[in-house]
Amino acid sequence: MSVISEGDLVLLRFDNRRRFIVKVVKGKRFETDKGYIELDKLIGLSYGSTVETNLGYKVLVLKPLIHDIIGSFERRTQIIYPKDLSFIVYLSGISSGSIVVEAGTGSGALTATLAHYVKPHGKVYTYEVRKDFLEVAKRNLAKAKLLDYVVFKNKDIGEGMDERNVDAVFLDLPDPWKYLNVAHEALKPSAPLVIFLPTIVQVEKTLMAVREHKGFCEPRVYEILLREYKSIPEELRPETWMIGHTGYIVFSRKIIE
Ligand code: SAH
Repeated sequence: MSVISEGDLVLLRFDNRRRFIVKVVKGKRFETDKGYIELDKLIGLSYGSTVETNLGYKVLVLKPLIHDIIGSFERRTQIIYPKDLSFIVYLSGISSGSIVVEAGTGSGALTATLAHYVKPHGKVYTYEVRKDFLEVAKRNLAKAKLLDYVVFKNKDIGEGMDERNVDAVFLDLPDPWKYLNVAHEALKPSAPLVIFLPTIVQVEKTLMAVREHKGFCEPRVYEILLREYKSIPEELRPETWMIGHTGYIVFSRKIIE
């Protein structure tokens, strides 16, 4: 398991900024400005080893984690950032075996995160109106080796969700307040609805609709601010730049009238 095989994804770390997710293919070279690495050389090597480029530059070979792989995804839409993805998953209470529904798929960052946590016995049913985005998401999920845990649907959720009694519903689309009924029908009683929204105007509309609907209880609104620190002991302080804004998370749960 900890030895690199052909077809594996590896994380080649040149320095903190230059990190590349590369598929190990026999006979291929990975070229950079610091020289190239013959990928054949990696097969049979243990993860965590250091290799050298032809120019003698030292490169660390790590086993990519889910956030490394999502970070390398092709992006055709806005994607949900790690700070939000992690709290969304935690709030939803999902775990291995959970059955969840998501819309829209977009580039698949949330889809991959959900699939990672529900595997190997759970499933993510994901809806997307745009066929071209769905293809991008499929390629991304294939890269993450998570295709087996996802069912892709090229469908507008305005037409309903086919699933019933699911453990959680996730919405990341511009007008979620229109789909409260659809989410309510799909959810198991007491199960969470988690919504991601980029603007406060959308949060307000969503809260009004939740109040009106009566099939959801105690909505909560969150914003996640994450501050990374410089990890050099002599210079320990916050990084100069941080992500200023991504979006808000609205959480609620299905109740039975
Ligand atoms: N969460 C995704 C990004 C979603 S972007 C990620 O992390 O990568 C929002 C997506 O919702 C867009 O791709 C858009 O096409 C899709 N969408 C908008 N309205 C929709 C609807 N009614 N049904 C299904 N998908 C919808």
